[in-house]
Amino acid sequence: MPRAHVLPHVTVAHPVPFNHQKYGIIEVSMPSHLVCFNPSCRATYPITEVIYTCPKCGGLLEAAAPELAQTPAQLKKIWRERRMNNAPIDQSGVWRYREFINFLGDESHIVTLREGNTPLLSGPKAAKYAGLNHVVFKHQGFNPTGSFKDNGMTCGASQAMRLKMRRVACVSTGNTSASMAAYASAAGLDPIIFIPNGNISYGKLAQALEFGAKTFQVDANFDQILALVRTLAGKLGIYLLNSINPFRIEGQKTIMLEIMDQRDWKVPDWVVLPGGNLGNVSAFGKALREMKALGFIDKMPRLAVVQAEHSAPFYHYMKHGGSGEFASVTKPETLATAIKIGDPVSWPKALLEITTTNGVVEMATEQEIADAKAQIGLAGIGCEPASAATLAGIKKLVAAGVIDKTADVIAVLTGNVLKDPDYIYKYHTGKLEAPDGSFIRSTYGNQPIEVPNDPDKIAALL
Ligand SMILES: *Cc1c(COP(=O)(O)O)cnc(C)c1O
Ligand SMILES: [Zn+2]
Repeated sequence: MPRAHVLPHVTVAHPVPFNHQKYGIIEVSMPSHLVCFNPSCRATYPITEVIYTCPKCGGLLEAAAPELAQTPAQLKKIWRERRMNNAPIDQSGVWRYREFINFLGDESHIVTLREGNTPLLSGPKAAKYAGLNHVVFKHQGFNPTGSFKDNGMTCGASQAMRLKMRRVACVSTGNTSASMAAYASAAGLDPIIFIPNGNISYGKLAQALEFGAKTFQVDANFDQILALVRTLAGKLGIYLLNSINPFRIEGQKTIMLEIMDQRDWKVPDWVVLPGGNLGNVSAFGKALREMKALGFIDKMPRLAVVQAEHSAPFYHYMKHGGSGEFASVTKPETLATAIKIGDPVSWPKALLEITTTNGVVEMATEQEIADAKAQIGLAGIGCEPASAATLAGIKKLVAAGVIDKTADVIAVLTGNVLKDPDYIYKYHTGKLEAPDGSFIRSTYGNQPIEVPNDPDKIAALL
């Protein structure tokens, strides 16, 4: 991994007419290419090269910024009109914005389950809990497999199709494997999944099994298994769809595009999201920089990333100024398994995006996450544990005066409430045990009540 401290120079093409070609119905100026993210390298590679990091320097890769044939006003209108079309790629909340994810060239490779199209939900009670006047949740749990991973996976799986790969693989603490299994099977590819032993919620594992993935439980932690799988992928010609895959990031950019579209391009003050491998914050920041440079928005929202207390290497890094060695957490712990990551692959990208948006990084304890999650539930919305780190983080940032109580705040709920029912039941019944062996207080507990079959006795309890 590169340990880059210098921010790369950000260039985005100017939106003037190019000698664009028509690839199927995707009109782009030219097929995109891969660029090394390391500012002192910036080597470029053909978009069809099967690489996950820069062969020259080992840096992260990214797809080059889009070069548009239309003006922002034209595209905003086209994107709106596509919502009314029945074509699958227009109904997809990812491919609707395909001008911003133009790596594919030809739409015939696209595999879509109509991902995206997730709602903005207002949560007055949750806002009050966090000390805000108003908060809006962007609920990515409404996706086909119940998490934002679908926004990225539709792109990763489509690229696998274009590369004529037969098998795809990932290491995952849950949602990535559920999503990859679905998209690979939908595309007719063979999904192979590696999971760290005993570190996955049953909701997510069940999805992977149901969607037909060959699933290996390995007795090692996430980071060790990733190294193992990279070796295997190279040897056996398997396409890797881990967080490091730059095409997944391209798909996740559309979460930000869709938010702006749904708000008629009114930019919020803050966008808050949980941070694990830091791919999503990288995607949000890249989308915002591209939208700004291409004239779709006139200012940037501030990004706030929230990590779990004992899986918070990026929080600690940024707290110490965001420079010097990046220290990973050797034994990450949290019940919010989707953000239980000690060595986030995308931290150099996240550093750029937090810096560019004047963003912040916060952390939340197990208790804070659990209580915030219950509050999101009481708002009638619900989410999985990692997603609730947003509201927990907002509460702290409001209390610290970083987020103003009148601010226009979007909190991204990354996963569906049914992903981890075990956690919910234990929280409400006082049986939720933190990784350190202590019990989480069921502050907003809601126990089932055992009653006899007797209307008078039940009436007395109502
Ligand atoms: C993957 C995931 C995260 C973490 O996102 P990163 O891009 O790894 O930072 C958070 N919440 C949920 C529900 C996830 O599935
Ligand atoms: Zn490089």
